[in-house]
Amino acid sequence: MASEIKALVAEKAGTTLSPLTISRRELMPDDVQFDVLYCGICHSDLHQMQNDFGMSQYPMVPGHEIVGKVTAIGSDVTKFKVGDLAAVGCIVDSCGSCASCDGKLEQFCEQGVTFSFNSADKYSGGQTLGGFSKSYVCKEAYTLKMPESLDLAAAAPLLCAGITVYSPLRHWNAGKGKKVGVVGLGGLGHMAIKMAKAMGAEVIVFTTSQNKAADAKRLGAHDAVVSTDKVKMAEYASKVDLIIDTVSAKHDVNEYLNLLAIDGSVVLVGLPPEPLEIGAFNIVMGRRSFSGSNIGGIAETQEMLGFCDKHNITADIELIKASEVNQAFERLAKGDVKYRFVIDMSTLS
Ligand code: NAP
Ligand code: ZN
Repeated sequence: MASEIKALVAEKAGTTLSPLTISRRELMPDDVQFDVLYCGICHSDLHQMQNDFGMSQYPMVPGHEIVGKVTAIGSDVTKFKVGDLAAVGCIVDSCGSCASCDGKLEQFCEQGVTFSFNSADKYSGGQTLGGFSKSYVCKEAYTLKMPESLDLAAAAPLLCAGITVYSPLRHWNAGKGKKVGVVGLGGLGHMAIKMAKAMGAEVIVFTTSQNKAADAKRLGAHDAVVSTDKVKMAEYASKVDLIIDTVSAKHDVNEYLNLLAIDGSVVLVGLPPEPLEIGAFNIVMGRRSFSGSNIGGIAETQEMLGFCDKHNITADIELIKASEVNQAFERLAKGDVKYRFVIDMSTLS
C-alpha cells in the first residue's frame, strides 16, 4: 500500500514550504523504505525553489541529502535489513544500461537520470518528491550504506555537497604536492577544504567574505585570500594546480584561470544561472582548462562515504527544526550559514 506521510511542500511557484501530506509509492520488490532522520539544505534546493533554471515543478518537496533508518524492504532486497542506516543523495534511478551507467557514471545517464526531487517520476506519473519528508522510498541499487560511526546529522551533507567536491578532487588527482584552490566558502566549499586536505593537498581558499577567511584555516586551509585583495590574489598567479569553483552566482572566472599553473584546471561545480565569460588568453596561456563536474556516481558516492569514515570528515552544520526551514532558506540566500543547514526531521509533524 502507498503511504501517506508529512513533508515540507512548496505548493506553487513563489510559495514557501509548509507541512502537508504527500504519498510514497507502495514498496516494489527492489525498494528500500526508510524514515528520514536528517536532510541537508543545498543551494540547489534554493535554486529550484526560486526556479532559477526555469524547470521547477510543483508541488515541490526539496531535499537530496537524505539519511535515515530502514523501516521496510522489498522481497528482492539483500543489502539492507530493517533497522539499518540508509542514505539517498541526488540520484534515485537511471537506465542502467547505457555507456555512462555501465561506466558507473549514472549522473550522466544517456536516457536522463532521475533525481531525488523535481524529476519526472515514472512510478507516480508526477514528480519525484525529496527528502524534506518523514520517509523515503528508493530502489536498493541507488540507496547508500551509511557508516555507523559518523555523526548522522553532520554526515547528511556528504550525500550532495560531499560527493560533488570529492569526485572532481579525485578525477583531477588532488593530493600530496598539489596546490588546490577552493572558490566560495559555503556548503560545498567547506567540504572541499576538508577533503582536499585529507587527500594531502595544500588548500587555498578564495572567498568574498572577510569574516570567513580566518575560519577557512580552522577548517584546514593553508591560506585564505579575500578575492578583492588584488595584491594577495597576484601572489598565487600561475601557481595553483586545481581550482574547485563552488560559487552559486555569476562571477568572473578569469581571475581564477589566471591563478592556474601550466595544465591546471578550474572545475566549475557551482551552478550560476547566467552564462560565464572566458577570455581566450586566460586559457591559451599555460594550456589551462575550464571544466565542470556534476555530483558523482553511486559507487563513487559509496567510496566517498568510506573515505569520510576513515578520515572522520563531516560537515559543520546548523541543525534546525522543520518549522525553521523558510528562515533557513532566507539566510542561505544571503550566504549566512556556517556551513550547512540540516533539518532534524523528527521535528516535522
Ligand atoms: P552555498 O552554501 O550558498 O555556498 C556558495 C558560496 O558561493 C557562498 O558561500 C559564497 O562564498 C559564494 N558566493 C555566493 N554568491 C556569490 C557571488 N555573487 N560572487 C562570489 N561568490 C559568491 O551553496 P552550496 O550549497 O555550496 O552550492 C554552491 C553551488 O553549487 C550552487 O550553485 C549549487 O546549486 C551548486 N551545486 C552543484 C552541484 C553539482 O553537482 N555540480 C551539486 C551541488 C550543488 P564566500 O562567502 O566564501 O564568497
Ligand atoms: Zn545539492
